Amino acid sequence: MEWEIKRSSNGCILCNRPFSGDEEYCSALFEEGNIFIRKDFCTSCWDKDKDGWPFSFWKTKVPKKDKSAQPVINMDVLLDVFMRLEGNNETHQRNLRYVLALYLIRKKVFKLKSLKKQDKEESIILYYPKEDREFTVVDLNLKEEEVEAITAEMCQLLNYPYFDHEVPVNTT
Ligand SMILES: [Zn+2]
Repeated sequence: MEWEIKRSSNGCILCNRPFSGDEEYCSALFEEGNIFIRKDFCTSCWDKDKDGWPFSFWKTKVPKKDKSAQPVINMDVLLDVFMRLEGNNETHQRNLRYVLALYLIRKKVFKLKSLKKQDKEESIILYYPKEDREFTVVDLNLKEEEVEAITAEMCQLLNYPYFDHEVPVNTT
């Protein structure tokens, strides 16, 4: 695969302070070459110079340790990244967008509307009912294992910096 998301640290990247339980902080994706790097900032450092403009960012909260509940996937983050990747032809970004599309179909955010073949390239047409709009995503024909691996990594890195265990991915 030609894309990667890297996690930078366990606390605020600027002041190195670890986040405490229930603390709200900001997470951001930065694009550096072929790699997405995720960086976390405490709220006071968020306003400082971040060394570049983030590709996407969102607010996160440190989950309470005593909670045994499963982490909830932040669909808004995935949707935001998906939409920002539209029209981007870099290989790693197309791969990421494709995997995001599959994931969002699986989670019933998107509906698979149809398939289109044009110039030897297959595309999937998605319908997004919430905004009544369609998206076209190039079908990259990734192997199932590749899709699974990227999906698991993606969810973990986008949503759960504080869960070091593997995030279960629903494969049905
Ligand atoms: Zn800080």
